[in-house]
Amino acid sequence: MQFRVPKGTTDIVPDVAVKWQYLERKAVELFKTYGYKPIITPIFEHTEVFTRSIGSSTDIVQKEMYTFEDKGKRSLTLRPEGTAPVIRSYVEQNMNQLPQPVKLYYTGPMFRYERPQAGRYRQFWQIGVEAIGSDDPAVDAESILLLVNYFKAVGLKELTLYINSMGCENDRPQYIEMLKEYAEAKRESLCNDCVKRVDLNPLRLFDCKNETCQAVMADAPKLIDHLCESCSGHFDEVKHYLEMQCVNYTIKPELVRGLDYYTKTTFEIVSPLLGAQNAIGGGGRYNKLVEEFGGPSTPGIGFALGTERLALAVEKEGVFDVNENSTEVFIAVADPAAKHAAVNILYQLRSNDISSDIDYMNRSLKAQLNAANRRGIRYFVFLGSRELEAGAVVVKDMEDGAQVEVKLNELVEHLTGLVGAAK
Ligand SMILES: [Zn+2]
Ligand SMILES: [Zn+2]
Repeated sequence: MQFRVPKGTTDIVPDVAVKWQYLERKAVELFKTYGYKPIITPIFEHTEVFTRSIGSSTDIVQKEMYTFEDKGKRSLTLRPEGTAPVIRSYVEQNMNQLPQPVKLYYTGPMFRYERPQAGRYRQFWQIGVEAIGSDDPAVDAESILLLVNYFKAVGLKELTLYINSMGCENDRPQYIEMLKEYAEAKRESLCNDCVKRVDLNPLRLFDCKNETCQAVMADAPKLIDHLCESCSGHFDEVKHYLEMQCVNYTIKPELVRGLDYYTKTTFEIVSPLLGAQNAIGGGGRYNKLVEEFGGPSTPGIGFALGTERLALAVEKEGVFDVNENSTEVFIAVADPAAKHAAVNILYQLRSNDISSDIDYMNRSLKAQLNAANRRGIRYFVFLGSRELEAGAVVVKDMEDGAQVEVKLNELVEHLTGLVGAAK
């Protein structure tokens, strides 16, 4: 009997996991620079946390949630996204008592029951940030710039930044009526899903992948042309801050992020190298969400990026600097009689922060060297009975083949020097 991973999931094997860790490490470094702190929320929440916030008419809530009843008859849902849990926590933990805005980041798996395809899984990883408590357009710009600068930090060069404004609660009802009227008149040209959307959630009409629907929606009225004065002023400020940092952007009125809670600024970053599934990150402002969770009226903004797709993009044009995870020293035991002494040396090296390993498979010396070579270990220490008697070992640099004899009591110092210089 052999088991396979559930459909839509995958193992992140060590060679890939070290790359993910690198991406996460770079993110955390940058988030700190921007004043963001980590938060860790449960993987599952009460189902209502998501139905209330994401919107009951969205695809996520309608078809994609992993919802189950636990043994205590509670309806729980594996989180399909990271913002709602963070806002739930902001309200529950009274973070409005802290200096505002509260700036948080999270990383971890999310779950959506979607059709699996290249780069899209049912369990997928996100890195995200939220800045809660300020409606300053400079915070919008900060969120966008943080995402842009993070992608640059991991070596991405070809990026397109799309921005849009979804307006406020005053702009939307009027606009939605206008949109409904427009779509109603074009009903015959729309796909079945879109016909349903006209009544259920007309904003989602822009999300349809059907070409005919897209053609129809290209001429639809755009929210960005119907913003109130305050919202268009806010948007102008955001653009100004981006221009100050020489960040190019394209205004994309069709950019309606797939969740109901967005207000004002929304944004998305696309890597043209990725083909159809080319969005690698995006987010927006959600000024009504905290209230929705029973907190005081509090604005907020954030973004999330998908680790899988980012890793693909970095594979294509970025740099994975993952060396620091590899083992640096291998102790080759030439003679079983030297095993105990070799293990002693191994722990001596490790307690001096030298990443090191030894053979655990009773291999011949030759097979030990082959295995260590396959692992890409650079320095070999040869140890047999003769070396023990002489109190000295041979250290070989596999990169240039250089060998030196080193006294046992100087080995730690010698290797520390070599490994330090190689870094
Ligand atoms: Zn407005
Ligand atoms: Zn459609």
